[in-house]
Amino acid sequence: MMAPTDTHCPYCALQCGMTLVHDGERWTVAARDFPTNKGGLCKKGWTAASLLHSPERLTTALIRDGKGGPLRPASFEEALDRAAAGMRRVQAAHGRDAMAVFGGGGLTNEKAYLLGKFARVALGTANIDYNGRFCMGSGANGNLRAFGIDRGLPFPLSDIPGAEAILLAGGNPAETMPPIMQYFDAQRRRGGTLIVVDPRRTDTAKLAHLHLQITPGTDAALANGMLHVAIRDRLLDEAFIKTRTNGFQAARRICASFWPDRVERITGIPASQVERAAHVMGEAATAMVLSARGAEQQSNGTDNVQAFINLLLALGKAGKVSCGYGCLTGQGNGQGGREHGQKADQLPGYRRLADPAHRAAVAKVWKVDPDSLPQPGLSACELLDAMGGDVRGLLVMASNVVVSAPNAERVRHGLDRLDLLVVADMFLSDTAKLADVVLPITQWAEEEGTMTNLEGRVLLRRRAAEPPAGVRTDAEIMHELARRLGSAATFDAAPREAFEELRRASAGGAADYAGISYERIAAEQGVFWPCPSDGHAGTPRLFLDHFATADGRANFHPVRFNGAAEQPDAEFPYVLTTGRVLSHYQTGAQTRHVPELCAAEPFAFVEIHPDTARGLRIAEGDAVRLSTRRGEAVVRARLSRDIRMDVLFAPFHWGGRATINLLTNPALDPISKIPEFKACAVRAERIEPASPHAASAAVPHPERVEVP
Ligand code: SF4
Repeated sequence: MMAPTDTHCPYCALQCGMTLVHDGERWTVAARDFPTNKGGLCKKGWTAASLLHSPERLTTALIRDGKGGPLRPASFEEALDRAAAGMRRVQAAHGRDAMAVFGGGGLTNEKAYLLGKFARVALGTANIDYNGRFCMGSGANGNLRAFGIDRGLPFPLSDIPGAEAILLAGGNPAETMPPIMQYFDAQRRRGGTLIVVDPRRTDTAKLAHLHLQITPGTDAALANGMLHVAIRDRLLDEAFIKTRTNGFQAARRICASFWPDRVERITGIPASQVERAAHVMGEAATAMVLSARGAEQQSNGTDNVQAFINLLLALGKAGKVSCGYGCLTGQGNGQGGREHGQKADQLPGYRRLADPAHRAAVAKVWKVDPDSLPQPGLSACELLDAMGGDVRGLLVMASNVVVSAPNAERVRHGLDRLDLLVVADMFLSDTAKLADVVLPITQWAEEEGTMTNLEGRVLLRRRAAEPPAGVRTDAEIMHELARRLGSAATFDAAPREAFEELRRASAGGAADYAGISYERIAAEQGVFWPCPSDGHAGTPRLFLDHFATADGRANFHPVRFNGAAEQPDAEFPYVLTTGRVLSHYQTGAQTRHVPELCAAEPFAFVEIHPDTARGLRIAEGDAVRLSTRRGEAVVRARLSRDIRMDVLFAPFHWGGRATINLLTNPALDPISKIPEFKACAVRAERIEPASPHAASAAVPHPERVEVP
């Protein structure tokens, strides 16, 4: 029997501690008393060991010999040769930037670091980005703009109970990361007030003292309105504004016109609730704003975040214990994944690719000429849009772009037009099915590596299980591809060696990991970055003395309200907003292979208010066609009085005809380049006759081929 192994959940950014136990036949999960989850796990975590036993697991490399042909089994060596030759061919014919790389927020820090290095050094391409761009980009940019550094939470979770008031904008952690609710429960037990902003009366909103049931896309108007009330009713912290911030007067001027009646007309939130929320936040001794995808995944996402930060700064609720703004990062390593180089504009340690000094520092560690490093490339959606044009080849790791990206039909066409698509995955995902080369990989419990959770706490995932024959780690794949491409730089596939190099490459950067080691992480239950030296204790709380800006002050930015890029009209009369459910994670590429989770939530659905449904002659369980200007999806109706009558909600965890991102608007936030997943105009129609199978996730999307 193998020894129990302490590790962390393979899914979300809470990175709950768990122990993997083997009974001689199968792996099971036991909860672990770790500071983030304190013994709690959600059903995704409890069932995570099923992934290790899945009969659908890929254990053989696959190759497609010609466009339109079938995928066939191949040796790993042949698949790597095919991939490397294809990359060389694409770059010889179309230039280095024609070969692009798409990474993921699930990659360990080591793999995210190696992938950025692989793109810039082995391929020499500017074009690498990752699916984290679809998630936390607006929160990250709000943090950077206001505070000079992006760490999702600038404080540990243990600060949450101490906040007298919390405003949670666009998040439903009671479903997406349930163990975190322990901290909110403790806050309420201590007499704190919870305000939730959400178009749906979610499980989280049901726990709130005040639920602001907002029209999707209007968050900045709400935040400006709350600041208007705070100014009008003299709730400001003038001393804090004067000593620790810049730019208040411009924000004050913009907010002058956001009187509560006007905010009610824009947001649908009663003026009295806007006023009450402002007073709750302003009169509390300590307060936080936490944002999640609801406020962030909009074409004005960065401004939404900034507008809430403006409110906090004006109230003096930042840079103190149990105060501040935090972004509830979603993906398992969404935080670390955006720190170490797989973003289009970044180098390890949050260094900027456009900064000559930053380029020189990293090039020295990589032992390459700084001038050989490409400049910043295309962001995620721009990169996918360029497929078949300037981008002719794509390597995908830890991402399922054909389901996760907006306007998915266009993405699928782009993938079809590539000369080369290489996908590394543990399952034959919707994207892998379209690939020319599929490389089967190890999964979370079969390799070690570090993850950085939503608090900025660097954690250690340990290796528990032997991988099946026929798979390799992403790092081994990069090592082998780099060797075949004749790379000047080395790619050490051993996680510890890669982490040692990452430490050196991040030293002196904003996200400085130089003092973090596997041994320290294990001994200290994680280490918070920045941690610049071995003797440094790490930094659980940022900003207590000063903000990370050049002058140490936080920045207001005036936010004009623009609204969603696409508004409902006669043809598409409702607002579609997308999101997640308890039983699935992201595109379902993993959780749709867990029988317990599929049984709990087998079908894609759309949540509709019963009064809205009645007008559309839609009944519970009916097959419903959702249509937008970009495409159609078929899902089942789920009626609920918890949603606004003018809004439809659909989770995006399923593929095929139930791919909700066939509908979503790729309009980008100009700063974060996050797409507008949270608001687009939609029409809903009952399909006649309503078939119980019409909305099944099993209904296939038209694909190139079936796989043997
Ligand atoms: Fe914890 Fe998230 Fe895993 Fe659930 S999915 S067990 S909340 S890390």
